[in-house]
Amino acid sequence: MNIPKTAELKECPFCGEDAADIVKSTKYPENPFYVQCDACLATTNSFRTTEGAAKAWNERHP
Ligand SMILES: [Zn+2]
Repeated sequence: MNIPKTAELKECPFCGEDAADIVKSTKYPENPFYVQCDACLATTNSFRTTEGAAKAWNERHP
């Protein structure tokens, strides 16, 4: 399930594609949000808020 973007996501630090989306997981209700690259499937850790997930993505390095 994809969530509308609430923050600007940078291109993927792994593959360089502008294909990142915020995703809501049903597995971890406490920390449901993470960012995944649709091109190479890189992900962040899970966060309680979409903003936290977006920040983690934008600060991520390979
Ligand atoms: Zn990627």
